[in-house]
Amino acid sequence: MHKRLFFSSLAIILVTLLLSMLSVNLVFQKQFSDYLTRSTEETLEQLPERLSSSFLSHGCWDPDSLYSISHSLPLGTHIVLKEPNGTIIMSLINPMESMMQNDSGIGMGMGMGIDMGLSYSIEEWKNKSFTISSPNGILAIADVRYPAKAKVLNPADQSFVSAIYQSLLFAGALALIIGILLSYWTSRRLISPLQNLTKAAQRVGEGHLDEHVSVMTKDEVGQLAIAFNGMADSLKKQEHLRKQFTADIAHELRTPLTSIRSYIEAFQDGVLPADKENLTIINEEIERLVGLSSDLKDLNVAEMGALKLNFTQVDITELIDKTVNKLIPLIQEKGIAFEWEKPASVFIEGDEYHLTRLFYNLIHNAYKFTESNGRISIQMELRQSDVRISVCDSGIGIPKEDLPFIFERFYRAEKSRSRETGGTGIGLALVQQITQLHRGTLDVESNPGQGSKFTVVLPCAP
Ligand code: ADP
Repeated sequence: MHKRLFFSSLAIILVTLLLSMLSVNLVFQKQFSDYLTRSTEETLEQLPERLSSSFLSHGCWDPDSLYSISHSLPLGTHIVLKEPNGTIIMSLINPMESMMQNDSGIGMGMGMGIDMGLSYSIEEWKNKSFTISSPNGILAIADVRYPAKAKVLNPADQSFVSAIYQSLLFAGALALIIGILLSYWTSRRLISPLQNLTKAAQRVGEGHLDEHVSVMTKDEVGQLAIAFNGMADSLKKQEHLRKQFTADIAHELRTPLTSIRSYIEAFQDGVLPADKENLTIINEEIERLVGLSSDLKDLNVAEMGALKLNFTQVDITELIDKTVNKLIPLIQEKGIAFEWEKPASVFIEGDEYHLTRLFYNLIHNAYKFTESNGRISIQMELRQSDVRISVCDSGIGIPKEDLPFIFERFYRAEKSRSRETGGTGIGLALVQQITQLHRGTLDVESNPGQGSKFTVVLPCAP
């Protein structure tokens, strides 16, 4: 991965570099050629003036003076100077061009040759004709032929161009070296946190759930590290809950079983009579075991999304009232004040059996966690499209740090107290699953020492 990333970024750098050098080269060549063409044309514009001054100052066509004019001619330019009657006076060509042609063995003649053959190829020519005149009349006609697109022929221009190419190449090589170093560094920087994550994931897989990776950046890799740490934390918490649950469930099973065994031994030894009262106690313990196993089964089924709900029109007011009636003897026995003013019927689409469990669990919790002389109230508010039911108590409340977890299965705030109350931490997880299956919401507000308020919002029947 590291190598692949490095080589792919290197390939991108190379292609970009090549393309940019190529386009710089093209643009430069075009601009430079345009510049040369312009300067050739400007030089040629001045030619009639210079030729006529040369003639007038010498009184004839002086070869030395013409030779010096031919020196300033742009390379590739050829001039045929003619009498007005057409007789050729002489041809002018830059002497340097003649030398170049001689060097390549093609040229002929000296600075002022009549040769038109060149050692370079010119695709297109332009022709111009200038009239050289004096105040006394026409002196001569100059027929000029020059390349339509000037090429770099002058040694000074050539060295300028090669200096440009050299610096272009140097800049390219420098950019390449910097690019290689940068792509090596970037690929290392990208890969090393991923390698750390892989190692950490392997350690977590081996059961080291304390494993965390350091979050160095805020980018996608940083977010991945945060997500990984969150996952490791959650796995650790789940593992802790699982161990806690195994211990709790063992306790929950042992307590009623021990009690049942003691009663049976007492019956066998004749210490206690197997009368209705004692058999009722055994029956309650068995009921508790059955309730526990059915809670566990339902929660498991609900969490797997396989809980089969039998939706009908349910009068939620009636349902809560029936649930309250089941629990009211317990509540009164404990000396808790109870407030429930049965409102008018409200119908919702729901599963009667599971909704009963939902409210039973909430009211039973309120009963379990409220001391005698406390107060429990149930409020119901019918809103536009839903019904809001709150179960409030003035009980022990829930510590702030426990609040985010109480809907997780097997979670119990203040374990020792819950054990006294016989809880296993399944009730609220089940309440939440049932609420969600009814497309409702469940909220809790609680202050330790002051009480709790559980609010369920359920959509009304259309
Ligand atoms: P349990 O079987 O332990 O009651 P629940 O899932 O019903 O399990 O509740 C989880 C935990 O939330 C309880 O152990 C208790 O600490 C806390 N809790 C639930 N309801 C109340 C309440 N009304 N007042 C105080 N604490 C509560």
